[in-house]
Amino acid sequence: MTDNLGQLDHRYLWHPFTQMEEWLSQEPLIIERGEGNWLIDTEGRRYLDGVSSLWCNVHGHCNPRLDRALSEQAGRIAHSTMLGMSNPPAIELAEKLCGIAPAGLSRVFYAENGASAVEIALKMAYQYWQHSGEVRRTKFVGLDLAYHGDTLGAVSVGGIETFHAAFEPLLFEALHSPTPFPYRSPSGDCAPENCRDYCLSKMDALLAENAGGVAAVIVEPLVQGAAGIIVHPSGFLAGVRELCDRHEVLLICDEVATGFGRTGAMFACEHEDVSPDLMVVGKGLTGGYLPLSAAVATEEIFSAFLGRYDEFKTFFHGHTYTGNPLACAVGLENLKIFDDEQTLESLMGKIERLELRLEKFRGAANVGDVRSKGLMAGIELVADPLTGEMFPPGERVGGRVCEAAREFGVAIRPLGDVVVLMPPLSITLEEIDLLCDAVEQASVRVLQ
Ligand SMILES: *Cc1c(COP(=O)(O)O)cnc(C)c1O
Repeated sequence: MTDNLGQLDHRYLWHPFTQMEEWLSQEPLIIERGEGNWLIDTEGRRYLDGVSSLWCNVHGHCNPRLDRALSEQAGRIAHSTMLGMSNPPAIELAEKLCGIAPAGLSRVFYAENGASAVEIALKMAYQYWQHSGEVRRTKFVGLDLAYHGDTLGAVSVGGIETFHAAFEPLLFEALHSPTPFPYRSPSGDCAPENCRDYCLSKMDALLAENAGGVAAVIVEPLVQGAAGIIVHPSGFLAGVRELCDRHEVLLICDEVATGFGRTGAMFACEHEDVSPDLMVVGKGLTGGYLPLSAAVATEEIFSAFLGRYDEFKTFFHGHTYTGNPLACAVGLENLKIFDDEQTLESLMGKIERLELRLEKFRGAANVGDVRSKGLMAGIELVADPLTGEMFPPGERVGGRVCEAAREFGVAIRPLGDVVVLMPPLSITLEEIDLLCDAVEQASVRVLQ
């Protein structure tokens, strides 16, 4: 059975972000079932889901409440369109989402994945200024090393060389401002406050140079996930908000990775008391069950699109499955679980335990930097911790450590040579220990 599935996978599939030549040379891991924080393959082997099935699982797999919400909605209707009509789960989830979102965000526009919701936020920001008579505000400012998804607009404002360079001729021009990454500081000064102030002053200058021409700044608040779990120095996000206010540009916060408790607060913006003009959510919105995302806008942005039909201020954007009832029903139940089980309150002890365990990696052989915020952590492996010199990419050190971790019962996926730990919020203290033990043993196996 498994052999056959493996052969069929190799014969018919093309996997995302995967060098298929490498993939075709290995036995595929085929996950058949889930149980709480665990994945179970077709051979019955169990793996702790150390990256929440790509950063989206929240309350565990086969969660009885989410399962029930899904099947109950399936018994009513699986899909009806949001173009010209509505549906109860989409309405109720929107109300709930606005209730927990940072102050001022009050209008929900749904999509199915993070990248599409980023596109929506970009188009809304651009058109908001068009409708407001500031037609020269057409540019966007993104951070270096930013990741906002893989569609062309999201890639345009992104800044990850390896993923994005190939598509350069297809992109619209965006402005880029340096990332406050103390370990590889753009100014050379690694003190977090200096690194932060340097990056803020660069952004200030960029906004001044382009005065009247910028529609919005887009950032991943607090943590740049795909760049390798880069944790911004505290005060950076609040500083960006202040710059946006001063230069009168909109702020888009991409909370696709950081939203829904990941950093210890419901949204990362809360840590710095920041309210963006547009917030993008995805990944954890349905607890990791179904593809659903949203751009959440202020009433001010929403109002700019109001008018008579023949003024053509309508936001001409939508997807076939916008506001899908199955996905919204699960998203709603996901948020109810946060309330009923006090998910955020339960995180404190888990975050402490993870931080304690991560301390052990600091100063270990080949560990250059250890970064974390909440249940989002990265251990950067380097050839020389003194100079920060990286391993040659061909050695695939991060990849090999993660493959070795499977033998210790843990499924993780690296970002280059950064070992990423991002377990479901429902992980237990014992499972955190198991996760960290496995990474430790796997690193020793690969690096010695
Ligand atoms: C994953 C991610 C996206 C893209 O989401 P998809 O659902 O994969 O399109 C966008 N922004 C951030 C910050 C992400 O981590």
